[in-house]
Amino acid sequence: MAEAKRIDGKAVAARIIETVKASTETLKAKTGTAPGLAVVIVGEDPASQVYVGSKAKTAKECGFTSIKHELDAETSEETLLKVVRDLNADPAVNGILVQLPLPKHIDEAKVIQTIDPDKDVDGFHLINVGRLSTGALAEAFVPCTPAGSMLLVREVLGDDLSGKNAVIVGRSNIVGKPMAQLLLAANATVTIAHSRTRDLQAVCRGADILVAAVGRPEMLTGDYVKDGAVVIDVGINRIEAPEKGLKEDGTPKTRLVGDVNYAEASEKAAAITPVPGGVGPMTIAMLMANTLRSACRVAGAEAPK
Ligand code: NDP
Repeated sequence: MAEAKRIDGKAVAARIIETVKASTETLKAKTGTAPGLAVVIVGEDPASQVYVGSKAKTAKECGFTSIKHELDAETSEETLLKVVRDLNADPAVNGILVQLPLPKHIDEAKVIQTIDPDKDVDGFHLINVGRLSTGALAEAFVPCTPAGSMLLVREVLGDDLSGKNAVIVGRSNIVGKPMAQLLLAANATVTIAHSRTRDLQAVCRGADILVAAVGRPEMLTGDYVKDGAVVIDVGINRIEAPEKGLKEDGTPKTRLVGDVNYAEASEKAAAITPVPGGVGPMTIAMLMANTLRSACRVAGAEAPK
């Protein structure tokens, strides 16, 4: 087969951000206020700091008001809950994002369930989970990574996935399960595979749409991919790359890879997302789109599709 089309998530994400910027301008002209995104981070986990930094930066680029609450690692659960309640009550805030993971002494579920479901732009509150799983997509905030992955599927296959077999490897609440709901809502026939699935290779080879959300570097080799499949690689794994040389501390440099072996899979797939530059940039773009939608709802304005 000819080599697969590379699905350019970076370009699609840039397009979404441009639409969000334009709609933000229109909304500001109408209401005099900008959408507000509040990001809360507890502790100094370096990866979380990077994520939060780029979310706040993109929010500013979109013309949003960006509020950042940086709390130290010893912050009590009660203090964090109060921050969330205050943000719930603040009319200038349309979206609240609490960066996960939280320190061990804080009950994550309790924090998520305290966020006002109508400001829950991460889509993790049970009300939004329920809306998504009952097909109430117009009301739901959908978790950003699967929402972005779904747009990439649509880039290739369009809106109606009738007759397509979709296999998702991974059943997490933030990626695998909501992705299954979205594919089902688009009429695909959906299988969710996980670590207890028997003969995973055969299951995956039945997929017209294969979504990898496993967290294992390059686990899905070419043998897992059906000829002509659309492959969405959600995985982000940092591995050692001795070919790039050594860091100052003498340890090997690193590089990012997905859960799919790109070189092998792209010989069989019709289209495939790269890592980096595939699903990753879509996640932040969808966060901005969700925040804009929340602000439009409050203002009684129509959000872009
Ligand atoms: P989780 O660790 O929560 O879930 C991983 C899933 O993979 C589980 O359901 C697990 O099965 C399954 N699994 C693990 N090993 C195997 C195996 N050998 N065979 C079959 N299934 C297996 O991960 P997440 O869903 O949070 O994330 C998945 C990946 O996506 C990670 O690489 C993460 O970094 C990336 N990610 C990327 C984002 C982005 O912005 N692009 C955002 C979020 C995540 P079981 O349930 O049986 O244990």
